This record gives sequence, structure tokens and C-alpha cells, in this order.
Amino acid sequence: MRRHYITKQKVAVISEHASPLTVVGGVEAGGQNIAVAELTQHLARSGYQVDVFTRWDDPDQPEIVHWQSGVRVIHVKAGPVSYVIKEEMLPMMDEFTKHLTWFMQNEEEPYQLIHAHFFMSGLVAANIKRILGIPFVVTFHALGEVRRQYQGSCDRFPKERLLVEQRVMAEADRIIALCPQDRDDLLTLYGADPQKLTIIGNGFNPDEFFPLPPDTARTQLDIPTTGPVILQLGRMVPRKGVDTVISALGVLKRDYKLSARLLVVGGESADPDSSKTPEIARLQQLAMTEGVADQVTFTGRRGRDSLRYYYSAADVFVITPWYEPFGITPLEAMACGTPVIGSNVGGIKHTVRDQKTGFLVPPRQPKALAERLSVLLTNPDLMHRMGQRALRHVQQHYTWHQVACQTADLYQDVLSNSHLATRLREERQQHGLPALVSSNKLALR
Ligand code: UDP
Repeated sequence: MRRHYITKQKVAVISEHASPLTVVGGVEAGGQNIAVAELTQHLARSGYQVDVFTRWDDPDQPEIVHWQSGVRVIHVKAGPVSYVIKEEMLPMMDEFTKHLTWFMQNEEEPYQLIHAHFFMSGLVAANIKRILGIPFVVTFHALGEVRRQYQGSCDRFPKERLLVEQRVMAEADRIIALCPQDRDDLLTLYGADPQKLTIIGNGFNPDEFFPLPPDTARTQLDIPTTGPVILQLGRMVPRKGVDTVISALGVLKRDYKLSARLLVVGGESADPDSSKTPEIARLQQLAMTEGVADQVTFTGRRGRDSLRYYYSAADVFVITPWYEPFGITPLEAMACGTPVIGSNVGGIKHTVRDQKTGFLVPPRQPKALAERLSVLLTNPDLMHRMGQRALRHVQQHYTWHQVACQTADLYQDVLSNSHLATRLREERQQHGLPALVSSNKLALR
């Protein structure tokens, strides 16, 4: 950490649907869970006391979990104590707010700051700010307008989402954009106040992700040590564009006479069960149509400890979503020394440096992807050089430690502004003067 803070500051992190305790890789749990888990642990290590509030969705979990040193996960009763898809959670946020307010009021040490993740947590934070006066920072992780643009009628979130997002942006003390594209979307699609915006991306954990000798990794995974291997890893949802990768495999075979193995990691279960992950069935069908079914292996979801083997076993990591608010997986791949070919969208166009650490391609274009794959797979020197550059690039810019430092700096800005605002207001009151501006507005400037 660049700055050291003498007193322990108490931060409430709200992440209504994405608990740091959840196993990730299915439809519902992914980058946000990882971001909340990593960020809170790093902030706690640097001296913050962090409580993560998430919806209570499992009766086997206690209300309070002392998760890591300095981090508690607190389950908040809101709706049934069972799994609920996030698209149906908005009506439960009043109850969430009520219970959280009660919890906060009964804590001995007050919370100084709230960091809300996702729009519904932002709504809770905005309400609590009105009740208890605690300032808040928000990271949206994904935006309703962008989702609607790409997913159209498949987007099942209530239409009120957009109004909630606008209110949260207006009332937040600061807004974290994950990448320049996210910042542009916040400005142009919502008219967010540019003064409130700070870009802080996501990261990777160097204890989890580091290069392994490819032969060792492949032997560990029981895959042949020779022949090209392409990796796709992530949540199994259509917008991730796994179909583009499978179709590109077909193009590679037909037009370039190149036969590569594709590993597809992710899903609702540890085995590739298409009844639990219907997306797998759709992709298997496509692989058959493309004539590459025997080249594609669906592994199912994999745990954090084994992911570096997959990334290190691969010659290239491919990620071709339609859009991507940030995208942690390219960082993880690069941290294992593997070059990335990614869609020229969202966070990926910022984290992957075209021609240097991999290639950027237009989304949904299997031919363009196949052409770039052919360049890399037939040029081992280039592949190696890009992999080494990728490793250096992410080590320099994208560790969770660095992300936590930037976040802590932002917290300190908000806290110093809000303390200043309170003091000025009190002073004016003592002297019988009317308030000039609201404490919120002062805190923003
Ligand atoms: N992931 C995992 N196991 C799997 C598939 C994915 O642990 O089987 C993790 C992956 O390593 C990454 C996260 O899920 O850390 C996905 O994050 P990303 O930002 O790439 O996508 P999002 O889930 O936010 O759409």
C-alpha cells in the first residue's frame, strides 16, 4: 500500500447477489464475486476493517461468517433464504435496506464508508446514506443500458433498473468505472458527473496465477503434450461468444488446414452436464455442425487452484464476448504467460494490447478470429514473445494489490472530503450561518 493509515477504518461492502463465499464459474457467479473477495482481503491486509453484506441465500450459512482476518461476511435477510436469480432481486432491496440499517445502528464502531457493488447494492447504499449519512462509492460492474443494447428482449432485469442506476449515480459520492469504455458509457448513456468518476480496473492474484511449464500443465490435465491447444474459460452464457470460438475452429480446419484442440472451461457443475448447463448442449450441437466435435472438450466448472494449469497448458487464450464490462480472465491468462486473442470491446480492448500481448478481433466474427489464430499457432516465436510481454504487462498494471491501493486512495479522498464537509457545516451552524451547499455536494468537489 502506498499510504498507511493509523486508525482502522470500517468499510461496509454491499454486494447483494455476489458473495465472496460462492463457488464461481456458473451462470450467476463470476467476476464480481472474485472482485469482492480479492478487494476486501487486500483492503483488510492494509488495515481496513471490512464487512461484506450479501443476501442470505443459504439456510446452512450462519448470519455472520468470520471469513478472513479483518473481513466478515454478513448475510442479510431479504426475501426467501434460498437461491433467487438476480433479475428478481430488486423488490427485495427494501427489506435488505431495513435489516442492514438496523445492523449498522447496532454496531459499536460506526461505518465510515460504504462501497456498493452492482446497481441494487447501490440503491441500498443510497437509501442508507439518506438515513445514516454514510458516504458511498459505487462500482456498477455492468450497466442496464449496455445490457439492453446487446441482449434486447433476453434481458430479464426490470425496466426500473435504469432509473435506479440514474439515482445511484446522482447520489453516490464517487463512481468507479472499470475501464475507459465503462467510463464513456457512464458519461454518454447516463450523463454521469465526470467529477465523480475514477477508473479502477480489476486484477489477478499472483499467488494463484503464474506460469507453469506447458508440458507439466498438460500432463497434470491429462492432455497430449504436443499439438496446439486453445483455451476458453468463463461463465457459460451466450454473450461470452463461445460459439464464435467453435465456429473459428471450423474455419481453421477448412480454410487453413489447421487442427487445434479447444478446451471450454466453465458451467454449473464440475462435470460438463448439459442438463445443468443447457448452453453446453447448444455449443456441442454447433461443434458437430462445424465438424469439430472431436476437437472440443467441455470440462465443466473448475476451482481456482486448478485454473493456472489450464491457462499454462494453452498456447492461446481466446475470449470473444459481444461486450465485456471488464473481463478478469484475460488477466489470469496473461499472468500465466499465455497470449490472448480477445474481442475489441469493453475492458478487453484496454487490457489486451493488440499485436503486443495478443490480438484484438471484432466480436462475432469467426473468420477474423480464425485468421489471427492461424497467425499465432503457426508462429511459436511470436506466441512466446507475446506471452512474455503479456506476463510483464499484467504484473506491472493489474495485481489486486495495485487495485486495492487505488481503491484505498479513493476511499481516503471521499473520507477526507466528507469529514471536511461535516466540519464546515458544524462550524457554520455554530456561528448561526445557513448551510451553503449540502454535505453531499461539498463532498464531491
Ligand atoms: N471462473 C472460475 N472457474 C470456472 C470458470 C470461471 O473460477 O470454471 C472464474 C474466472 O477464473 C474469473 C471469473 O470466473 O476469475 C470470471 O470473471 P470475468 O470477469 O472474466 O467474467 P464475468 O463473470 O465477470 O462475466
